[in-house]
Amino acid sequence: MNIILIGAPASGKGTQANLLAQKFDLLHISTGDMIRDIIRKDGQYSNELKNIIDSGELVPDNLIIDILKMYLNTVDSKKGILFDGFPRTVRQAEELEKIVDIDYVFEIEVSLETVIKRIEQRLICSGCGMSYNSSKHSGDICESCGGKIKKRTDDTQETVTVRYNNYCQSTYPVVKYFHDKSSYHQIDGEKSTDEVNDQICKIIGSK
Ligand code: AMP
Repeated sequence: MNIILIGAPASGKGTQANLLAQKFDLLHISTGDMIRDIIRKDGQYSNELKNIIDSGELVPDNLIIDILKMYLNTVDSKKGILFDGFPRTVRQAEELEKIVDIDYVFEIEVSLETVIKRIEQRLICSGCGMSYNSSKHSGDICESCGGKIKKRTDDTQETVTVRYNNYCQSTYPVVKYFHDKSSYHQIDGEKSTDEVNDQICKIIGSK
């Protein structure tokens, strides 16, 4: 089973991806985590990637598609894959469909107000990428891996509008691309984490 999660920044994709990957034993692929990992390890293109990510812009299609393909070539797994944050353009969607069959596409829908509020409050573990809400969590140590919890360098007031606009302009067409396929389902992302997860699991369970 291969799944795509599409949603604006802070729509809850990462949180749902972690829950679904665990529940259905899927390989979780987050292109955002992949890029942050390359930057952390000072790998190839790290300066270029840091500048792009911190400005809130999208990584060019050719580069992100190459990064994903290189990663997939190194993975020796028979598991289904959960794509979190990929595809973000129609070109990426077309490329992905050449590599794998997609069973489910979940669009997690949230308003711009929710995006702004969640980004303001979002903290992330620099070790495992787990997301925290600053209004609900005190301390800076991750409960899951013991890593340091920080603000993401791209979670700023300046980049949130750029990222949301990029979502509307470049990624929303991906929603339209999948809209009429039987794999596509819209999910209400304004609800709590558990409720969003229930919506998705019910759809998977009903097939
Ligand atoms: P995320 O962690 O999914 O919010 O991604 C963080 C940033 O990584 C985005 O704002 C983009 O700059 C970059 N990024 C992640 N995935 C992609 C993608 N599929 N295409 C282009 N840029 C991406």
